[in-house]
Amino acid sequence: MVDAGVHAPDYVEPTVGWRAWEVVESDGVLQLSSLRYAGIWEPGTEVAATCRRSLAYLPWGRMPIHTAPASDCVCGIYGAVKVEHARPFLWVAGSEAAAYRVVGRVSLWGRVVQAQFGWRAEFGYPEHLYVPATTHYARLGWRRRRLRAEEVASELEAYAVPVDVVDGVESAHASRVVTRIAA
Ligand SMILES: [Zn+2]
Repeated sequence: MVDAGVHAPDYVEPTVGWRAWEVVESDGVLQLSSLRYAGIWEPGTEVAATCRRSLAYLPWGRMPIHTAPASDCVCGIYGAVKVEHARPFLWVAGSEAAAYRVVGRVSLWGRVVQAQFGWRAEFGYPEHLYVPATTHYARLGWRRRRLRAEEVASELEAYAVPVDVVDGVESAHASRVVTRIAA
């Protein structure tokens, strides 16, 4: 286990990947949420992966309880090598709670295994968030009001990482190829 904290512990060199999040309104504040399992990413708290597949009552999905990520499973905190592989998740159908979608870089550490387009990790925390100036509301959950990108970005500053509003995730700003950052 590693110490809880906003950033990866000093003694590890985190892998940095790209991913998309839903922004959901929880207790009156906007927070990041995983797309697949609607898990909230609390500001200031690392997200620890758990394997839900081992709990599924599906014949094909029943696996022994294991620590996420297992190399022969699909669990873990996902990060993609290239933003191109995270970008499509901005437009996939989301949860009813979704108020916005953002893309960003995520620090991954602990046990990290290879995934199809990047990695699956034991722990993760946002490293840099990019809020598209426009979003595809038709694919988001029903809401009483539409949020402005600046409003979303302002609330996401609670994560204490850089937050930028971008014209589009096509922009060079958010299209840099991922690099490993120094410990
Ligand atoms: Zn698993």
